[in-house]
Amino acid sequence: MADDTVGKDVTPAGPKGSEVGAPRAQRSGSDDREKGFLSELFAPVAGFGVSFGTMFRKVATEEYPEKPRPTAPRFHGRHQLNRHPDGLEKCVGCELCAWACPADAILVEGADNDDTPGGAGRFSPGERYGRVYQINYLRCIFCGLCIEACPTRALTMTNFYELADNDRGKLIFTKDQLLAPLQTGMLTPPFPMADGLEERDYYQGKVSGPTDAQKAYVHDRDAAASDGDGLDDDGSTAPSITGAAGRPGNAAAAVPGAHDLVHSSNPSAPQTREGANP
Ligand code: SF4
Ligand code: SF4
Repeated sequence: MADDTVGKDVTPAGPKGSEVGAPRAQRSGSDDREKGFLSELFAPVAGFGVSFGTMFRKVATEEYPEKPRPTAPRFHGRHQLNRHPDGLEKCVGCELCAWACPADAILVEGADNDDTPGGAGRFSPGERYGRVYQINYLRCIFCGLCIEACPTRALTMTNFYELADNDRGKLIFTKDQLLAPLQTGMLTPPFPMADGLEERDYYQGKVSGPTDAQKAYVHDRDAAASDGDGLDDDGSTAPSITGAAGRPGNAAAAVPGAHDLVHSSNPSAPQTREGANP
């Protein structure tokens, strides 16, 4: 195919030699970028437009930490390990949350519940319970995949977000920090499941609180452990029979059935770092 540009001037069109350096208005041809009369007039003060516009906007300054702003209801904050209404733990130590975590932030070590006389006791309605549970908040990205993976709804996230610290070790939360506080009437594990009920009954909501038999068991257990010196056989303080209503946590958590909400029904309610939230 013949090249029809051969022998022709292919220099791009532009200002002619005599126009280079001349004012734009004197150049030939139209120019869409030319400024209008008003633009030229206000050009020296145009930069103040941003300042004036901002003066009449709503102030967005937040007085944190004096007046923390409530989070969105479904905000992903600190985790919580929930309990059944009688006080048994919902976690069955399956480790699914740890496997689902993309940041490898969760450590779980399960152990067998042991109802036999002289055994370690029962902490959850399942075959096993979470003996060791840790979440490393230096790694956690608050994606929520762990709570999606949990088959028992034991693990949920609260609205609490004040997790900064100058000690890295304190940002690895252990089970005692993550476990929901005992609500009024709940018993301190270990103790047996409610008579005549199976594990599935707990997850079907058939348990509304501790039975008389469970209360009697815990009472006898604590009495035997106290045994005059107020200490367990291993030297630890004997557990209380019932949960303390005055423990840290969200007041909404005292409502029966509200202690295991995924998120707070009242995000502006007081929340604490060490005490669990709703
Ligand atoms: S929120 Fe995400 S990153 Fe954090 S522990 Fe759960 S799965 Fe891991
Ligand atoms: S929190 Fe849920 S997923 Fe994780 S070990 Fe416990 S029961 Fe399993």
